[in-house]
Amino acid sequence: MRTWIRSFIVAFCFSFVFLITVHAENEKTREEILADRMDYYMKYSSIEVPWFYLAAIDQFERNIQEVRSDLEQREEPIAMNFSPHIWAGLHNPSYEDQSPFSIAYFDGLGKDGDGDGFASTNSPDDIMYTLSEYLHAYSHTEKGFKKALMDYYDKKETVQQIITIAKIYEHFQTNALDKRAFPLPVRSHYSYRGTWGASRGWGGRRIHEGTDLFASYGVPVRSVSYGMIEIMGWNDYGGWRVGIRDMHNTYHYYAHLSSFNKEFKEGSIVEPGDVIGYVGSSGYGKEGTSGRFPPHLHYGMYKYNGRVEWAFDPYPYLRIWERQDRESTQ
Ligand SMILES: [Zn+2]
Repeated sequence: MRTWIRSFIVAFCFSFVFLITVHAENEKTREEILADRMDYYMKYSSIEVPWFYLAAIDQFERNIQEVRSDLEQREEPIAMNFSPHIWAGLHNPSYEDQSPFSIAYFDGLGKDGDGDGFASTNSPDDIMYTLSEYLHAYSHTEKGFKKALMDYYDKKETVQQIITIAKIYEHFQTNALDKRAFPLPVRSHYSYRGTWGASRGWGGRRIHEGTDLFASYGVPVRSVSYGMIEIMGWNDYGGWRVGIRDMHNTYHYYAHLSSFNKEFKEGSIVEPGDVIGYVGSSGYGKEGTSGRFPPHLHYGMYKYNGRVEWAFDPYPYLRIWERQDRESTQ
């Protein structure tokens, strides 16, 4: 090989190793990222404004930024952002205004949290202090929190989603809630395929929004995520079904159950692996209808972006959770 080619390859390999090393130093672990966020929530919380209220709003903003192209995706640690007209004040001649005094004069929300003399939307301290002060102005009850959210977002689905996140954080007293579970015990007998979009047999020409996991009657159905049970009851299509909302703006739908776990009801907080009911063949008719198709769990996932909710394919996620559960039970 010619010398210049060899030296070029050697130089290339060295620079590549160098880039990887620098990259690795800048990259924080998942635990460090979550701890950084928590530092800000604690710093700007109080008896009246608990950390999980600040954390829930911040997490909701992160969730919608991940799925909306019209929103700026904020860098860690804080995703919360304010619209310029809300920050500076609607009648402020400059929406770039960073003076706490003129912002206050024009009834803007923006405040100086880090004490540098500016109220800047680029400062996580200024953002969190402003959010904390905004919530502080309302009565320090769940009703007051809901009113503050409604005044700011003006959408009841958004308020419901943020309240759900807050309740999950409050229940577990942490924001480190990344664990997931496969909806059936991996040691039971079951089968499923990626059939996204296949047409459904009953109730007209509708798209099949979910994955069918075929299993025997009575096999336990487990929550895949941390979340709050939003719906638990009968539906003519889904039979006995459970709907669980998590802290990633995802709604998990479990249908055709034979029965529920009576320990849980609507409003209960669950964690991954909690048994919520049992596989059956209920549905496709009036309350109590069963046996019109082979027993299976219909599992669906829906994402809320702050405006609408839509179904997405659970199959790739099921494959990941199944592998993780298999590895952890070996
Ligand atoms: Zn199905």
